[in-house]
Amino acid sequence: MGLPKIVVLGAGYGGLMTVSRLQKQLNHQEAEVILVNQNPYHYATTQLHEPAAGTLDPEYVRFPIDQVVDTNKVRFIQDRVTGFDPNKKEVYLKDASEALTYDHLVFALGSNTETFGTKGVLENALQIRNLDSVRVIREHMEYQFAQYQNSEEKKDELITIVVGGAGFSGIEYVGELVDRIPKLCREFDIPRDKLRLINIEAAPTVLPGFDKELVDYAVQYLEAGGVEFKIGTPIQEVTEDGVILKGGEEIKAATVVWTCGVRGNSLLEEAGVETMRGRVKVDEYLQAPGYENLYVIGDNSLIFNDQERPYPPTAQMATQQGELMGNNLVTILRGGSPKSFKFVSKGTVASLGRGSAIGMIGNKKIVGYRASVMKRLIDLRWFYMIGGLSLAIKKAKL
Ligand SMILES: Cc1cc2nc3c(=O)[nH]c(=O)nc-3n(C[C@H](O)[C@H](O)[C@H](O)COP(=O)(O)OP(=O)(O)OC[C@H]3O[C@@H](n4cnc5c(N)ncnc54)[C@H](O)[C@@H]3O)c2cc1C
Repeated sequence: MGLPKIVVLGAGYGGLMTVSRLQKQLNHQEAEVILVNQNPYHYATTQLHEPAAGTLDPEYVRFPIDQVVDTNKVRFIQDRVTGFDPNKKEVYLKDASEALTYDHLVFALGSNTETFGTKGVLENALQIRNLDSVRVIREHMEYQFAQYQNSEEKKDELITIVVGGAGFSGIEYVGELVDRIPKLCREFDIPRDKLRLINIEAAPTVLPGFDKELVDYAVQYLEAGGVEFKIGTPIQEVTEDGVILKGGEEIKAATVVWTCGVRGNSLLEEAGVETMRGRVKVDEYLQAPGYENLYVIGDNSLIFNDQERPYPPTAQMATQQGELMGNNLVTILRGGSPKSFKFVSKGTVASLGRGSAIGMIGNKKIVGYRASVMKRLIDLRWFYMIGGLSLAIKKAKL
């Protein structure tokens, strides 16, 4: 009989942490571990808003997977997962002629964009999804500025930026734009007061679920930086020319970035796994109910808190799940009983650009520069956890 085969799909927070635990604990020839990811590198999704605005070099947020994966213990396959069959225990890859079989599958492919049925989002809006998509946003924005300056007509829509969504990623992106726009205006010789940056949110508040005092701080800070908020205002359609709001108002904008939310990865639904908005309500061991040895972690898992409300999908959640997942798989292979998952919140910090942030650490509120230093430390902690001191130092220097 061959070695038990563990296949981990996705080298994001959840997948990479699972593999990190496995390679640390498994003995030689105890199991075959395979990691599949579409890129040869990992990117820190939590920081993508920075290269998207052009305030950070995209190199900062990524590192090669073989820098942190022990290739003596883990086989890395760079390929795109196109589907899987949990009954046959097979995974299908774009460039492989044969299916990849498994004994244990960890599904950690991250989320897809949630459009809430809004017309034109996928066709016309830009999205903060991965390294390539944020490179496009940055280039697109700069191109519109150049076009504005190069044209006789000086069309206002070329220098109008709409950010759909004032949740976590929307606010963090808007914060970065507040830092970047004055520099862009100087670079392209455009007066700052000509430019519009509009943040549109369907919910009645910015950062739904956040402490009110912190939300007020964020709104005041961003408004002082020139952001126009339209709150309680659903976007009805994203067109080639901009957005149409509920009620019919049209805002012409050459740059529309959609950050309104995520749903589970469509590959789960396509495989017939039961989902709620694409996410799988996993059991206490992070298993998809009804399937043997299928584990779903990160943005694709749905976990409820004590008040029966779903936890939002976060890197913090994915990392904790990945840690337990790796440990549990080792325990299972050795005939032991797996531990159940319990999320422990370490706090939340949302950045408002380079120099400010808001956050809750325990029951303590933090704002301003102190909070932004905390945010940097949280980002560096991930590099430290996965790549040790040398990776953290390298990133800190950058
Ligand atoms: C702008 C922004 C800011 C955020 N800020 C925070 C924050 O401050 N704190 C926080 O906790 N959370 C934050 N989040 C949320 C957090 O990034 C996600 O919850 C987290 O990345 C989920 O981890 P994951 O392992 O499920 O997926 P991911 O980290 O998204 O990893 C998925 C991996 O799978 C790969 N992949 C996807 N599809 C395929 C395929 N078909 N084949 C092969 N490989 C594939 C991807 O390339 C990627 O490497 C933020 C998100 C965004 C967008």
